[in-house]
Amino acid sequence: MDLSVQDLKRWLHLSNQKIQENKAFLSELDQPIGDGDHGHNMARGFQEVAEKIESKGYEETGALMKDAAMTLISKVGGAAGPLYGTAFLKAADEWKGETSLTDDAFVRGLEAAVEGLRTRGKADRGGKTLLDVWLPVLDYGKENKIEPDDLKQVAIEGMQRTNGMQAKKGRAAYFREQSTAHIDPGAYSSYLLFEAWSESMNK
Ligand code: ADP
Ligand code: MG
Ligand code: MG
Repeated sequence: MDLSVQDLKRWLHLSNQKIQENKAFLSELDQPIGDGDHGHNMARGFQEVAEKIESKGYEETGALMKDAAMTLISKVGGAAGPLYGTAFLKAADEWKGETSLTDDAFVRGLEAAVEGLRTRGKADRGGKTLLDVWLPVLDYGKENKIEPDDLKQVAIEGMQRTNGMQAKKGRAAYFREQSTAHIDPGAYSSYLLFEAWSESMNK
């Protein structure tokens, strides 16, 4: 992969578009195992991100990602805002000064983001959170040349596997066994971001 700053900007806009289109569905997923606001939270945050980055010019990927991260941290309520914000901020640190993103940079950013998510949320693999999408994508990226279709497929499978897991962290954990037979809303929104990434690679 070789994504320019402009491609990364396009990814953020495409992510926003997908989040807006799936706003109601994301909140629906959050109803049985949460408080029904995940779509609302994400739609608000990504709309703010899209507006923030639109008018500004960026020379490097880290600065763009940092603006997105700070916007998510300050504008999104609930668990998801600080979590996505932390993940984006860690990737931004990793991409500081980099004008384009190769496979190697993608994996480094993703690895830092996953560490940030783990530290912040205290969740891990199998906990039925967004990490159950981010971790398989990281594993895939470490071992393979990144192809858009495969990347999307790995994200889909990770998201689908959360249906069957009992939640260990976040609001869904209060539902104990009853949380099992549902897709995790954060895993679904993460899948949308990686789907947008795979489409950004197909330029
Ligand atoms: P809230 O639960 O505060 O209403 P959201 O509904 O926006 O926040 O986000 C819920 C999502 O956040 C969950 O589906 C899950 O993927 C993710 N999440 C919640 N708690 C954690 C955690 N401790 N670690 C990782 N992800 C988490
Ligand atoms: Mg919620
Ligand atoms: Mg909430």
